[in-house]
Amino acid sequence: MSSAAIIDGKAFAANLRQRVASAVEPFVTLTDRKPGLAVVLVGEDPASQVYVGSKKRATVEAGMNSFEHRLPTSVSQNELIALVETLNADAAVDGILVQLPLPPHIDDKAVIAAIDPAKDVDGFHVVNAGRLAVGEDAFVPCTPLGCLMLLKDHLGDLSGKNAVVIGRSNIVGKPMAQLLLAENCTVTIAHSRTQDLPEVVRRADIVVAAVGRAEMVTGDWLKAGAVVIDVGINRLEPEAGQGKGRLVGDVAFDDALARAGAITPVPGGVGPMTIACLLRNTLVAAYRRAGMSAPEGI
Ligand code: NAD
Repeated sequence: MSSAAIIDGKAFAANLRQRVASAVEPFVTLTDRKPGLAVVLVGEDPASQVYVGSKKRATVEAGMNSFEHRLPTSVSQNELIALVETLNADAAVDGILVQLPLPPHIDDKAVIAAIDPAKDVDGFHVVNAGRLAVGEDAFVPCTPLGCLMLLKDHLGDLSGKNAVVIGRSNIVGKPMAQLLLAENCTVTIAHSRTQDLPEVVRRADIVVAAVGRAEMVTGDWLKAGAVVIDVGINRLEPEAGQGKGRLVGDVAFDDALARAGAITPVPGGVGPMTIACLLRNTLVAAYRRAGMSAPEGI
């Protein structure tokens, strides 16, 4: 039985982070300052604290400044927006990331709308979403950008391929579909109301699963040789004697191995690409704000 190639997102991300770090050096020489990323965390959500910690470490490792702002859950929407406006005006800040989710009394759309689109390194602002949709230069959300990099690295030209994106969130599914369309794929967006999802997926040369349902996509859903990008991060119930359950994706990995041409593992696939792309977007923002283009190949 044939076995899929494993797409090593961890290695690709390490290489991208290295390339970003190499491009930070000439920026510092030219501008006499480091690129800076401001990360805003509201509240005590444990997963968000872990993400923010990793982002800070990676930013500093790449030679950039990390500015962290931790606010209590009780902060008002106006206070949070006032902080965003201060960061918009701060010349040392090239990228602004407000960690989601925000507490229920804050409208995340209003907060994202307050970010200067030129510093919107998460690519969530409607100006960047619109630019992506009409094919203009945009900051693209980090997770789908990372998925596209892995696909192009593995397949080269994506033109004419049938791509199915499962999930239609603004953070992953929709921008992923836009990116694949821009690469001249024939794109289908599937979601919770899609009928006969296995049949839809079976047509795909490229499958991007971004649902949040453990091991939903099984091997028999896949066309032989399909390239599978698994965005899902799901924690299974712990087995007896284990403290924490295993992390799995939206694709039944072992099952898919026998049919897919290539697949990203969870963990070690898409996850590491997200932070690497955040550093990449911050570097690009810094170069643009200084009136320059980022070096080729970033
Ligand atoms: P979301 O909950 O916003 O969106 C999920 C999407 O899945 C929705 O559009 C919904 O229509 C679709 N869906 C739900 N049930 C379905 C079903 N039965 N069949 C088909 N479609 C269905 O989630 P999201 O923010 O897009 O994240 C998706 C997954 O990706 C989550 O597991 C999340 O943890 C993970 N994620 C990973 C990274 C990373 O860095 N690797 C980043 C972002 C999200």
